[in-house]
Order: sequence, then C-alpha cells, then structure tokens
Amino acid sequence: MASVTLRNICKSYDGAAITRNIDLDIEDGEFVVFVGPSGCGKSTLLRLIAGLEDISAGDLLIDGQRVNELPPMDRSVGMVFQSYALYPHLSVAENMAFGLKLAKVGKAEIRRKVEAVSRILQLDQLLERKPKDLSGGQRQRVAIGRTMVREPKVFLFDEPLSNLDAFLRVQMRIEISRLHQRLKSTMIYVTHDQVEAMTMADKIVVLNAGEIAQVGAPLELYHYPQNRFVAGFIGSPQMNFLPVRALGADADGVEIELPGACRMRVPVDGSAVQVGEALTLGVRPEHFVAAEQADFAFTGEIGVAERLGDHNLIHLSLEGVAELITLRGDGNARVAAGQRYAAGLMANKCHLFRADGQACARHYREPAIHG
Ligand code: ADP
Repeated sequence: MASVTLRNICKSYDGAAITRNIDLDIEDGEFVVFVGPSGCGKSTLLRLIAGLEDISAGDLLIDGQRVNELPPMDRSVGMVFQSYALYPHLSVAENMAFGLKLAKVGKAEIRRKVEAVSRILQLDQLLERKPKDLSGGQRQRVAIGRTMVREPKVFLFDEPLSNLDAFLRVQMRIEISRLHQRLKSTMIYVTHDQVEAMTMADKIVVLNAGEIAQVGAPLELYHYPQNRFVAGFIGSPQMNFLPVRALGADADGVEIELPGACRMRVPVDGSAVQVGEALTLGVRPEHFVAAEQADFAFTGEIGVAERLGDHNLIHLSLEGVAELITLRGDGNARVAAGQRYAAGLMANKCHLFRADGQACARHYREPAIHG
C-alpha cells in the first residue's frame, strides 16, 4: 500500500500545456477518482503516475519517494486499461500469469497467486477458458486479475468500464468498490462519468482543461461546489443557472433580485460581492420545493414533462427567464406540457456564482454530511 503525492505536476506536448500545476495528496488506501469532460487531461495524469509519459515539470512521489525517473516496472503501480487487451490464444490462467512469467516468478508461486486472485474475482471456474468464451464483464475481471497478481501498491484504472453495457457497468462498479474494501489498496480511477465518481470515490478530483477545479469527498462537491464548473458537472440533471443581480451583500448573505421584482436573501459569503453586481443563481432540480414551503414561490408553464416512474422531470418556462428550468417532482403527480405549475426555492439550498465562476461560500451546513 502506498500514498501518492503530486507536487506542481505539469505536462506539455510540443510546448502546449496539457496539465498545469497539479498539486494533489492521495492517501494510503484511498479510492480517488479523476473525473472531467473528454480531453481535460485525466488519462494524461494517470499515465504520468504510471510512468508511461514523462513529467515535464514537478515532482511525483510514491510513498514519499520521488519516482519521476523510475520506469513503470519499478513504481509498484498496476494499470487496468479501457481495452482489456487480453491475449486471445491464452487461457484466463495464462493471461493472468503472463506478467509474473516475464518477471521470472517461480511456477508454484504463479499458480498460488493466480488461484488466490481468481477466487476473489470469481474466475476460479473459468481459468481454462479463452477470452472469446467470456462475457465482457468476465474479460474485464481477467484484466483486473492480471494486474492484481502482481500485487501493485497502487492500482490505476483508465475508464475500465467504458466498453461495457449500462447494466454491466453498474455491476462492475459495485464489484470494483467491493474489491477496494477488501484489498484496501490505493486506487486511482479515471472516468468521465460523474455517477461512477460519486458512487465509488473516497475523494473526487474534478479536472477542467488540465487544471484541478476542486478536490473533495463526493457529497462535499455536491453540496459545496467551489465554482460553477463543478456545480454543473456534479449532479444529474444539471444544476439550473439563472442570471440575478445583487441588491445588497455582506459576509452573512447576499440579497438578490429575482424575476417579478422579488427579493431573497441567500446565506452565502457575500463579502466580495458589490451592490449591483451580476451573479448567477444555482439551484439543483431536486432542491425545488412546494410553493407554500418556499422562500420564493413562482408559477410557470410546463414546456416538457418527463415521467420516469419514481420521479417527474419538469422543464418549466418562467416569465423573465430565457431558458427552461428543470425541476424534479413527485412521480405520481399528473403533469403535462402546457399546464401551469407552482413551485419555489429555499434560500439555504441556493448557490451563487460570481462572473469569474467562483462560488460565494455557502453558510448553510447540510445535515446529510455534517449531522
Ligand atoms: P482525457 O483523458 O481527459 O479525455 P487526455 O489526457 O487523453 O484527456 O488528453 C488531454 C489532452 O492532451 C487532449 O487535448 C489530447 O488531445 C492531448 N494529448 C494527449 N496525448 C497527447 C500526445 N501524445 N500528443 C499530443 N497531445 C496529446
């Protein structure tokens, strides 16, 4: 087991910066997920840790030892890729043993390790099969097993579930989480899927255009996004963003003007906000409430109603607001396009962002993570 430390890590290709000034501490045994949109530099960062790419500047430490110049084999890291790349002519057991054979490990030792790992991954009944006779999920387990037998201190996963269908993805997600509980190894996992990040991670690193947008526990990022990018990336459907104006602001809150010339005081740190400043109000679809419970109630016209069984998604047209806003409502409520619909906001559930995208820190502490 091992900690991984990134100090001011930069990577450029032909002078073009891909990742910039990455500072990150990954603790021994942590499950850390790098998440962000395609092209934000997640895989590059993972490949720098693996030693598959040279680091342009900064220091990479594994268990406190600088490893920038160490070849991948000597870093005690094991990587599981998106494409399993199993050898088609070798059996499951031979695929799993391949790396150990190359490393000149003794036959008996290889057999012992392959058997132990195959039991954990429930591959012990499939050891003689060829990859073509396995399901997608089983192949992915062989790819994980091939890495596990080498007993790396740090597991690196590069979008390992991308090639699986939706059902298998959910299953494998749970399997990898259970594997982590069992092995307690340090794991770094790359995905563009925020649901995988939320469900698997101890700590999420959100990347945006080669830089860290925020690092934190899943619920920390959900409830306290530090900027509009993280607010929009974490959570599905996405947070609603509405333009508003500051009527007054201090360290305890910001008074904003809402459509219909209404006012609401949002309990966030407004010490840097100027009166008259244009701000963006952020409200998650699941945080709207019934009009009678609200700090600000409104009525709009339903543009589209999506009935999903356990909940409805209502896309509402509000006077004075250019885009439809999305609300999550009771799945049993009868809703249809064209109907009037009343709902409202709770001030303590709202987020406020300044023009540069930075959030005003929320004062309200969510009981779900602090209680
Ligand atoms: P992600 O994994 O987040 O989708 P990547 O780390 O694969 O993103 O890529 C980040 C950026 O670096 C992309 O713009 C990609 O085109 C660029 N890039 C990756 N590898 C190379 C390379 N070998 N040479 C030049 N540019 C590269």
